[in-house]
Amino acid sequence: MSIRINEARCTGCRRCIEACPGNLIKQEHAGKRKAVMAYPKDCWGCTSCVKACPEEAICFYLGADIGGLGSTVTASENREKIRWKIKMRGGQEEEIVIERNNANKY
Ligand code: SF4
Ligand code: SF4
Repeated sequence: MSIRINEARCTGCRRCIEACPGNLIKQEHAGKRKAVMAYPKDCWGCTSCVKACPEEAICFYLGADIGGLGSTVTASENREKIRWKIKMRGGQEEEIVIERNNANKY
């Protein structure tokens, strides 16, 4: 499991770095100080960084091993909702919207 960081979208805000419980994301030492995934093999897919990124620059890779067949997931959120956007390998997209008030009821 791992994430991918879209370098073109990353603004270097550090939110993902602070969100990762495993301290797996680092910041470039020079240039635009973008975020880089330093330890992809250690990522356990908690998706904290995906939700924390305000630029939707991080996607979680759903590999074949978990039935994702190479699709990716990004997230955007506000006070009420989290929107998970799934992009299939063939280009189709799907969106799952979770109401925060109902998220932990099941
Ligand atoms: S998915 Fe979780 S463990 Fe993996 S890099 Fe993001 S915050 Fe860290
Ligand atoms: S949260 Fe997003 S924009 Fe901010 S440093 Fe991480 S990848 Fe870049």
